[in-house]
Amino acid sequence: MQTAKNYIDNVYETVVKRDPHEEEFLQAVKEIFQSLTPVFAKNPKYIEHNILERIVEPERLISFRVPWVDDQGKVQINRGFRVQFNSAIGPYKGGLRFHPSVNASIIKFLGFEQTFKNALTGQAIGGGKGGSDFDPKGKSDAEIMRFTQSFMTELSRYIGSDVDVPAGDIGVGAREIGYMFGQYKRLRGHFDAGVLTGKSVDYGGSLGRTEATGYGTVYFVEEMLRDQDLSFSGSTVVVSGSGNVSIYAIEKAQEFGAKVVACSDSNGYIYDENGICLDTLKRIKEVERCRICEYVKEHPHAEYHEGSEGIWTLPCDIALPCATQNEINEQSAKILVSNGVKAVGEGANMPSNLAAIDVFLENKILFAPGKAANAGGVAVSALEMAQNSSRVPWSLEKVDAKLKEIMIDIYKNSTHASEEYGHPGNLVVGSNIAGFVKVADAMIMQGVI
Ligand code: GLU
Repeated sequence: MQTAKNYIDNVYETVVKRDPHEEEFLQAVKEIFQSLTPVFAKNPKYIEHNILERIVEPERLISFRVPWVDDQGKVQINRGFRVQFNSAIGPYKGGLRFHPSVNASIIKFLGFEQTFKNALTGQAIGGGKGGSDFDPKGKSDAEIMRFTQSFMTELSRYIGSDVDVPAGDIGVGAREIGYMFGQYKRLRGHFDAGVLTGKSVDYGGSLGRTEATGYGTVYFVEEMLRDQDLSFSGSTVVVSGSGNVSIYAIEKAQEFGAKVVACSDSNGYIYDENGICLDTLKRIKEVERCRICEYVKEHPHAEYHEGSEGIWTLPCDIALPCATQNEINEQSAKILVSNGVKAVGEGANMPSNLAAIDVFLENKILFAPGKAANAGGVAVSALEMAQNSSRVPWSLEKVDAKLKEIMIDIYKNSTHASEEYGHPGNLVVGSNIAGFVKVADAMIMQGVI
């Protein structure tokens, strides 16, 4: 019988051999594998069933052509993806990302993370992810519609409310979901409310879904802080990004009594020592769809700085990276630590690279990993699916109470797993183990799948 460590190292080598250039995917795999030695040492059944080699291979990876016509009448081609990573505990579930960086590696890393994140929510959802290298920046509304319709024309073959349920992610919000939903309905000739989540509440969306990822991250971090007799109240917070996750993380942190002094976009960051004015930020981003440098025109005492990474040089008690993967490297992590950060909560997927996570853990910074802390978005997506199936909409109070309960449960289950497997308080290890065990057990029960 191989030792747990040998087995895990061998499987990792196999994965590297298969996909040597998939940097982000390998990073996500390594992060999870590093946590699993105690689980394999304690439960040899996972080695007997060769569960790791199975779980790391997507059930299906679909890549397709997306042709569309721009406003100049020119034919444009983008590449679309959907990874149906794991369906052991429910239909594939996960967002669609429209961003020029999207490729197979990014989609696979996101789908892999999603599988464990979704398991942590306690809802019956498997893991999936998709998207395109289409860049929505600067596109007209008509171009967005033509692109999303073409994207859905191909994607529609593979999805369904009991098969695979996409939602939004970076570059995909309620507008894009609306265009995709309309196209799916035309193609299928029936109203399948549960085929997409993140819909507008006007036609089957859930109240509270827009706010869910940001609010959920703050609920999770507040719970983690509470265990150490700390709180958002009275603390200084830096939130990267200015999309859906960031805006609602800022809103909830402010509601909990924090002063949020900075946020960013891919061009730069704003620093407002009086605290970010959320009304201005929401209008710039959600209504005008502009860059955040506009903020200083209305708030001349605030500063705008080119380059988004600079945001991590600002002193703060709590850092909430809510922009994108690998936005915090080792150096930024060290600066945050030397500036006295007490807690880091990941609203984005894998925003801290492996070296940065090590810096936080070595310095005993409270660290909430993305797959646990940002699970609120997909959790409320699952509640949206439940409302669609039963045809009964829930009140905002009911959704928000359930979201809070789910986030607290994820915190407790991850903490419990970290203790059970000998790494008390290490939520990276705890959330990886809690998510893995649930998916792996379901796979074993369903035979060699
Ligand atoms: N894109 C979000 C995530 O990373 C939400 C996915 C969903 O609601 O399906 O979890």
